[in-house]
Amino acid sequence: MLYRSEVSTALAGKKVLVWLRRDLRLDDHAALAFALGAASAVFVAFVFDRDILDRLLARGLKRDRRVEFIHHAVCEIDAALAAAGSRLLVREGNAPVEIARLATRLGVDMVLAHRDYEPLAIARDQQTAQLLREENIGFLALKDQVIFEGDELRTESGNFYSVFTPYRRAWLAALSAADYAERKTDAKGERRFARPKADLLQPIPSLSELGFESTNLKALGLPLGQGGAARLLAEFETRIDHYRERRDYPAVKGPSYLSVHLRFGTLSVRAMVRAALRHIADLDADGDSGARTWLSELIWRDFYAQILYHRPDVTTQSFRPAYDDIAWREGAEAARHFDLWATGATGYPIVDAAMRQINSSGYMHNRLRMITASFLVKDLGIDWRRGEAYFADQLNDYDLASNNGGWQWSASTGCDAQPFFRIFNPVTQSEKFDPHGKFIRLYVPELAGLDARQIHAPWRLAKAELEGRGVVLGTTYPMPIVDHETARKETLARYQKVRKDKSPPQGAPD
Ligand SMILES: Cc1cc2nc3c(=O)[nH]c(=O)nc-3n(C[C@H](O)[C@H](O)[C@H](O)COP(=O)(O)OP(=O)(O)OC[C@H]3O[C@@H](n4cnc5c(N)ncnc54)[C@H](O)[C@@H]3O)c2cc1C
Repeated sequence: MLYRSEVSTALAGKKVLVWLRRDLRLDDHAALAFALGAASAVFVAFVFDRDILDRLLARGLKRDRRVEFIHHAVCEIDAALAAAGSRLLVREGNAPVEIARLATRLGVDMVLAHRDYEPLAIARDQQTAQLLREENIGFLALKDQVIFEGDELRTESGNFYSVFTPYRRAWLAALSAADYAERKTDAKGERRFARPKADLLQPIPSLSELGFESTNLKALGLPLGQGGAARLLAEFETRIDHYRERRDYPAVKGPSYLSVHLRFGTLSVRAMVRAALRHIADLDADGDSGARTWLSELIWRDFYAQILYHRPDVTTQSFRPAYDDIAWREGAEAARHFDLWATGATGYPIVDAAMRQINSSGYMHNRLRMITASFLVKDLGIDWRRGEAYFADQLNDYDLASNNGGWQWSASTGCDAQPFFRIFNPVTQSEKFDPHGKFIRLYVPELAGLDARQIHAPWRLAKAELEGRGVVLGTTYPMPIVDHETARKETLARYQKVRKDKSPPQGAPD
């Protein structure tokens, strides 16, 4: 790790290209702040990475809200740079090749980016560094995505943390103002970006030129870009004090809805931490305020990022290897059940409403992510990796570390996961967290005629009563595809077969 002064020295008087990836903003940006503070010329680039885009297209994701979100942010940044007398250099292709080519043509001394902790991104950055080295150009990656990264917090025995509570304690104890201070990009009152020569500028490809179609992103009303993120954060701050008591109810405006902005960096995590701290009088004092609880969620994000960094194998296997001995259901019936889960037709209203939410908006409330994940794994007995992959395709805020962490937590295969014998009952979860059935009615309108007591488990009502309320089970709405009590017993048997883990995973709980 380099110290701030070393980074500034390394950049002093140099021509620098800042490569934007999942940090699509011009404010509070570590690489830009360093570059603008020390370099003699600063160019900014973005590459529409064909490797990533083609993988999406190969999975049939031609209408992908994330690509549209990124496209909007890229256009916004280009406009802001144009207003500052510069332009965004946009390319499409293999990212390492495009960056090396651009850096060579610009004649820069160094390419600056932010560190990424996903295995594919690490490989991409290594390849970029190699190509640049061949041209005698440096590559420097800085921390920006998280507050504390991989190696910064260690247990007393030198391990990485695999249990959240001590990690959170260590995170809070280590936190200093420098960790969340704004990385100012206009410290001298202006942004001194260099203007690329006209022959280096290429028009930003349209969505269709990239091979994609527009989605319902704008119709969803999600504020876009850096400006949208700032508005959303300001609005959330007016209700952050209620976060703790409201965050678990999907029909209530409880959470921040900022995850997609954090994912693509239209907002910095430091800005979010500063927002939380504005509402916490004394960080060292005990207590559970809304802002404290929200800050803990941001710490979960760092926690999972460091798990992925230290255990990249979790992308394909269980954090606790013994759990890979579980015999998940396979075959035609399991495949049919998976499809019914994915399309929101399981006959469990809360699960169906949640799956319809993710399919139609790309967002799913955190409580519902836990309920639907638990249902797939512990009611349907299907491998968590299949659900993880489905969420990866659908979520606007899809983040490998958090998604994997969330799925392994729900499946009880992960670090600090819930015990395998804790199995969510989808009906009692529904009664508890959507007591009036308001969320269900929003996404499962065919059950709108049922009252608050009936809507969570319509099969418990007599046929005539259901019909009086416009519901014919098996016709207008499905019968439950599994019986929860039977499934629960099968799951307990399935997990009980897991042999005792004789070789605890590296970084086992301290
Ligand atoms: C099965 C499953 C899959 C998930 N997949 C993702 C994913 O792909 N991307 C993602 O960002 N989050 C994921 N989460 C975590 C969480 O559900 C979302 O971060 C949250 O719902 C986003 O909404 P929000 O911004 O309104 O959250 P808020 O409640 O406002 O939380 C603020 C921020 O804290 C972070 N955060 C909150 N909860 C968690 C958590 N449990 N783990 C890690 N970070 C958290 C997020 O960055 C979030 O934006 C997953 C959770 C589960 C159970």
